[in-house]
Amino acid sequence: MNPLPAAAPVIIIGGGLAGLSVAAALGGPALILEQRPQAGMGATAENAGMVRRLGEDPYERALALRTHTRLCALEAAGHSALSWRTGALLGLCHEPEHLHDGVAHLRAAGVVITHLRGADLAARAPLLRGSPLAEGWWLPEERVASASALIDLQLAAARAAGATLRTGLTVRGLDVAAGRVAGVWVDAPGGPQRVAAGAVVLAAGAWCAGLAARAGLHRHLIPVRRSLLLSAGGPPPPAAHPWVWIDDLGLYARPEGEGWLLSGCDERVDWPAGPESAGEATIMAQALTADKARAWMPALGALSWRTGWSGLRTFAPDRRPMLGPDPALPGLHWCAGLGGFGVSCGLAAGEAVAAWLRGDSVPWLDLAGVRPDRRTPRRWPLRPTGELWTARLSDGRALPPA
Ligand SMILES: Cc1cc2nc3c(=O)[nH]c(=O)nc-3n(C[C@H](O)[C@H](O)[C@H](O)COP(=O)(O)OP(=O)(O)OC[C@H]3O[C@@H](n4cnc5c(N)ncnc54)[C@H](O)[C@@H]3O)c2cc1C
Repeated sequence: MNPLPAAAPVIIIGGGLAGLSVAAALGGPALILEQRPQAGMGATAENAGMVRRLGEDPYERALALRTHTRLCALEAAGHSALSWRTGALLGLCHEPEHLHDGVAHLRAAGVVITHLRGADLAARAPLLRGSPLAEGWWLPEERVASASALIDLQLAAARAAGATLRTGLTVRGLDVAAGRVAGVWVDAPGGPQRVAAGAVVLAAGAWCAGLAARAGLHRHLIPVRRSLLLSAGGPPPPAAHPWVWIDDLGLYARPEGEGWLLSGCDERVDWPAGPESAGEATIMAQALTADKARAWMPALGALSWRTGWSGLRTFAPDRRPMLGPDPALPGLHWCAGLGGFGVSCGLAAGEAVAAWLRGDSVPWLDLAGVRPDRRTPRRWPLRPTGELWTARLSDGRALPPA
């Protein structure tokens, strides 16, 4: 193995969608350090791939709008395996006003959104045949993306710009000297090794809060486990079918191969004990998903599962990304807190973080809303069953266990 360099202009901790998107957008030399054997094995490998612009948060929507535009341009330039148009139906079963502000925001930005009721819902999304769902938003331009193809694209762009990815190397801590981040400590084969850096980007997903805490910096970023299930048997999906998300209930489904990929949108705070973040889909999560689908997507019939897994979505308490320079620790930059929207927002998040690192302005995103030292609530709503109306306030174990 090549020895680690003694110094790098920029060190990026984490080779997921966040870290590689920063590296690709930086357009210059950087050292990306990833603890797993290859890039993209964390949350980036565990997601459902839906590119969703109609989110609850305006900053998330700004990032998703920009990422969507990039994905469309990439498809037009021949990258057809990166993302593809499916359309999306965002249903609302109990809270019809939910997402209205987001709809207004997106319409003002030129996104086509139609309000649907009754039989029009199943006409757009046949899996809703027989569903009691009364209304929803139809977005014909929404997409699905392949996170692994995005990783390949971003890694190639980063390498072309002079970045280096080193895998199988765990960053043990930030090196803080004279009140600023001066590099990192790496668990190298011969023992701990210091690598000096002009700037360090924390893009370590569920592990970010722990790394910062070891440097005495407490930023609330909470890993929340969610399950996904792939159906076996049952009616195969039609050739083209939109993804469907009943948002206030917390249930989504989209075609995946011969079956359907579903989630009952379970949430459980879960701090990673080691480098692995993927877990099982528990019996409870399986039952939650099957019960909701039976009631709201009866056309799927009696569901059985081919496989299932769970992964870590990492949120700030306001469920808004944590991006940009950290005023409390000069030299440290964040690209984190991408929660359940990192595929939808990752390319733009990387672009913004890289621009702020270079000292450039970002006219399409207000740093004040995403900066790492913004005030966030100490208690925040966790949605254990995915339903908005049974959210409970969590004091979050908002800091990682000591
Ligand atoms: C079940 C599930 C469903 C989802 N569905 C969607 C969806 O449909 N649409 C959507 O937009 N988003 C979705 N997401 C969210 C999306 O996957 C994430 O927001 C995104 O992948 C986050 O990327 P990341 O790079 O921040 O984190 P990660 O992919 O976790 O990358 C962080 C990397 O840092 C590395 N690392 C950590 N600590 C260290 C260290 N000390 N030293 C070296 N390396 C380190 C890790 O090994 C990891 O590779 C979903 C997520 C999950 C879990």
